[in-house]
Amino acid sequence: MSVLIVGSVGLDDIATPTQSRNDLLGGSASYAAAAASFFAKAQMVGIVGEDFPQAHIDFLKSRGVDLEGLQIVSGGKTFHWSGEYFGDMNTRETRSIALNVFETFRPELPESYRDADIVLLANIAPDLQHLVLDQVKSPRFVIADTMDLWISTARERLVALLARVDMLILNDGEARQLTDETNLVLAGRRILAMGPRFVAIKKGEHGCLLMSRDGKFFACPAFPLANLADPTGAGDTFAGAAAGALAAGAGEVAFSDLRRAIVRGSVLASFDVEAFSLERLKSLDDKQIAERLEAFRELVRFE
Ligand code: AMP
Repeated sequence: MSVLIVGSVGLDDIATPTQSRNDLLGGSASYAAAAASFFAKAQMVGIVGEDFPQAHIDFLKSRGVDLEGLQIVSGGKTFHWSGEYFGDMNTRETRSIALNVFETFRPELPESYRDADIVLLANIAPDLQHLVLDQVKSPRFVIADTMDLWISTARERLVALLARVDMLILNDGEARQLTDETNLVLAGRRILAMGPRFVAIKKGEHGCLLMSRDGKFFACPAFPLANLADPTGAGDTFAGAAAGALAAGAGEVAFSDLRRAIVRGSVLASFDVEAFSLERLKSLDDKQIAERLEAFRELVRFE
């Protein structure tokens, strides 16, 4: 089955305490689609300019990502984000952001995308996420991701979106910002009261808490890593892999399916951060994923 992914596609300049690299493949949809592609057919909706390197398109194609929904604006410039990490890389600052072709982006779904089984509204403006939902027929499960920027600048549209999705993914700081609750369980409950049946609250290197409206919990750790190179896109990779894992199933999505999907999200995110940009995903294979899944099982197994 297919997973439809809409989000940003762009070029990133990234500085960590030890390295700086420019013009890397980035954007929420790029990470999410590449991650999803390990589990299902990914269909991508986004926009880039004429300057977007062919090598990045070739990579996404090599992962089997359907790019019919990627608009390439002739003469246009691609979305460009620049960020810097500090200390243990839990702190990040955006240095600059150039929306470029993103400023006028109106997602348009090719006919072949409208029957999508699983929809992932990766991080973009809530208005654009609404526009995508307006065009899909009857998806089995819809996931939305968001960020602090939209909670502060487009709260009303974001809250309206929550009534249209099955699950919201956000990080702990964003959950607190959205609900004004400091306690994450209470914040999760407040979010569930806004519409989605499930919420996944990510806590960076401390893993993720999944909650359902009927009171179920699942806590998933982040894989302990000694070789963290670049945390960019970990959240998008997490969401993409989880969506892809759901698309590999069928029927109504149960809590047990989400537990399974979220572990796969954590596994793929743990690979993503081992190298800059999407580089680690380029060399990743199914055997490495299976081995780390097994290591994950060991990590959380107890009598
Ligand atoms: P994450 O590390 O999960 O926050 O995702 C980082 C990615 O988000 C980078 O590749 C950026 O290109 C992209 N990004 C940064 N700011 C925005 C924004 N305002 N809207 C959409 N994508 C963004």
